[in-house]
This record gives sequence, structure tokens and C-alpha cells, in this order.
Amino acid sequence: MKVISITPRGFCYGVVDAVEAVKRIASDPKTPRPIYILGQLVHNRHMVERLAQYGVISLENSANRLDLLDQIDHGTVVFTAHGVSPRVKERARAKGLTCFDTTCPDVEKTHVLIRRLVAEGYDVLYVGRKGHPEPEGAIGEAPGQVHLVQDVDDLDRLALAQTDRLAVTTQTTLSRWDTESLIARIVERFPNAEVHTEICQATQLRQEAAVRQSAEADVVFVVGDTHSSNSNRLVDVVRDQAKRKVYLIDGVKDIRPDMLVGASTVAVTAGSSTPSDITREVIRFLAAYP
Ligand code: SF4
Repeated sequence: MKVISITPRGFCYGVVDAVEAVKRIASDPKTPRPIYILGQLVHNRHMVERLAQYGVISLENSANRLDLLDQIDHGTVVFTAHGVSPRVKERARAKGLTCFDTTCPDVEKTHVLIRRLVAEGYDVLYVGRKGHPEPEGAIGEAPGQVHLVQDVDDLDRLALAQTDRLAVTTQTTLSRWDTESLIARIVERFPNAEVHTEICQATQLRQEAAVRQSAEADVVFVVGDTHSSNSNRLVDVVRDQAKRKVYLIDGVKDIRPDMLVGASTVAVTAGSSTPSDITREVIRFLAAYP
């Protein structure tokens, strides 16, 4: 089987920095134990299992960071690359926990933008995915003044106290194609809205490469976790923009023979939270496939 290994793919700098920070914290005997991560450090099961080997506990049985924090009464807490709200930071400090913040600088940039806009009297429409930790943290900068909009239905339902000062911003891991159409609808309804697209460069480069480099492939595999926003958006852009048949797989074990019937060329990419050895294993398996 001919395999196109799409590049860039896999770990972004925000994930690399967060993982390295947790390994450093866990290797330091002075770090108060136990060490908890508030949610999954990155949305990938393999990474969560690997971090557990460092003695780090990932709390992930609730989507709400404040609820997760209630489960901790001593030790260390790590905030994930997705960012957290100011309330979460305040409560962690009030509990006397040692805090480490691995928020990606690109996410922090959106928080800074929201704080500035809100201070200037704007209401902010935040285009993002419900139930994902990144919108939870960003909206937590000013609940009541930042409004989550996932789709046109949310936009239609939106009732705002004022529309003179409106701004739009986005989750970092969305697809620019989906986001553009929703933002166009927002601007149609609120022509004076100020638009700040915050999709990060790592996400954009991976999506554009996936669309361009999968053009010759009969089938495309995105290696990533079903909970990973950027992995799911890679699937969307390959299906909707490149018009290719595409599967989201966790690893080699998810590849079924029926996925490859009639295929002579496949392309492989990976979400920014997928460890590279998992993706390399998929590439090796497909290259050896008859
Ligand atoms: S996907 Fe973008 S925003 Fe998210 S951690 Fe990576 S670089 Fe940062």
C-alpha cells in the first residue's frame, strides 16, 4: 500500500510544553503529593496512561473544572493546556493547593483578549464547542458577558441586552472553514460585530496540510482520540474540503480490512494530542498492507 505521511501532523508546541512540564513536576521530589491534573492534560487516552506511570492522577469524571477541584483537598494541581477560568485558579489557591498552569500561550492570548474586550464594555460571542474545557475556561473570564455559540441554532436563540459593542472570538482548535460560515451568519445578524479569529497556527497548518496532501489518497486516517477537538476537525476538513473518505482511529487496532477495500493509496495524519509513536505504528502497518 502506498502511504502519504501528511506533515505537519501530531503534537503541537502547546502539548509538548504541557507534557514536559508535567514530567518535570512529577520528577521533582519537592512537589507536594498527590499530583492531580484537572481533566485530561491532552485529549488522548495513550497520553493519560503514560502520565499515570509518573504517579500523576488525571481527574476526568466531570466536564466542569470547579467540580473536579472539589475532589482535591491537598497536594498539587495542574491546569491543562486548555486553560481554566479565574474562579478555578482562585479556588485552588484558597484550598492551599500548589498550582502549576500549563495553559498554552495561544489559549492565554484569547483570555487576555476577552478580558480587554469585556473591560471596554463589549459582549463577546465565543464560537466554540459545548462541553469542551477550552470554552469553559474562556467564558469563565466574564460569565454573562461571554456567550458560547456552537451553531446557527445558538445564534438564533441568542438574546443580548446590548448590541452596540459586540465582538466575536473563537476556540483555538476549530476548523477555519466551519468557523468562517458561522461568523458570516453572526456578522449578517450583527453587522457592527468586531471579529477576532483565534484558531491557532498549529491547528491551521495541520488542517491545510491534511486537505492539500490527501488529494491523491483513496482513504485518509486521522489518528486521534474521539474526545480530541482538533482530531475531529481534521476529519471534518478532509471529508468536507478534500472530499476524501476518512476515518478517525485510536491506533492500528481500529483499522478494519473493509476500510481499505479498493484502496491503493492512503494518507495518514494525527491530532495535535496524539503521540508520534502511535501514528508511526499506523504508517508502518499500512505500508506493509498488501
Ligand atoms: S492546538 Fe494550538 S492552542 Fe491548543 S495546545 Fe496546541 S498550539 Fe496551543
